[in-house]
Amino acid sequence: TGKFFVGGNWKCNGTKESITKLVSDLNGAKLEADVDVVVAPPFIYIDQVKNTLTARIEISGQNSWVGKGGAFTGEISVEQLNDIGCKWVILGHSERRHIIGEDDQFIGKKAAYALSQGLGVIACVGEKLEERESGKTFDVCFQQLKAFADAVPSWENVVIAYEPVWAIGTGKVATPIQAQEVHVALRDWLRKNVSAEVASKTRIIYGGSVNGGNSAELAKQEDIDGFLVGGASLKGPEFATIVNSVT
Ligand code: 13P
Repeated sequence: TGKFFVGGNWKCNGTKESITKLVSDLNGAKLEADVDVVVAPPFIYIDQVKNTLTARIEISGQNSWVGKGGAFTGEISVEQLNDIGCKWVILGHSERRHIIGEDDQFIGKKAAYALSQGLGVIACVGEKLEERESGKTFDVCFQQLKAFADAVPSWENVVIAYEPVWAIGTGKVATPIQAQEVHVALRDWLRKNVSAEVASKTRIIYGGSVNGGNSAELAKQEDIDGFLVGGASLKGPEFATIVNSVT
């Protein structure tokens, strides 16, 4: 399924000072060569990170505007992410779906636009606790995945992130079995609805309370092709441990 992929989503965290320290820790860390490593700093620190990061790490935006930039107060465009040297953008993150209120169609459009301008997309899906408890996990994830599938012309530059909402920032990581079960279902959905090739080539990464202590067990699962890490990506040495958990 391609190279293991580990993203660090810094969310709305950090200061010039703490990010200087984090970048220096990342620069000093030994990172497994055969892993794609990406970090997503807050927009205003991307230039600082880009200019100081010497480690082999690509930069991602945490969001992007749905079309070409212009009179859209407070937004950051795909053109600007490209200009500043980003290679990726995270779209459909649960915090944007459920706190900001972005819907499937809007997220799909964002993905299509970002891909059309050459950015890679980290496409997030995941169910809430009540949805899991009422047996709707697959339905919810498939619906979110379908919105991406309906919008994107190609999956070549897309990584899918399965992030169960109940596991994000809660310390309640999905068990390797729980994550593997959904990853397999997502891959089957791709096989049936897109193509066998896309199903076998697209990386499906897991996010939600991944840390240096649980990443190795998760990484052993056949269909877990990497991680999207929140809190633990703010600590350089721990993030390096997660990157290196694939063996
Ligand atoms: P945590 O690792 O802090 O649970 O966050 C996961 C996440 O949302 C990554 O995008």
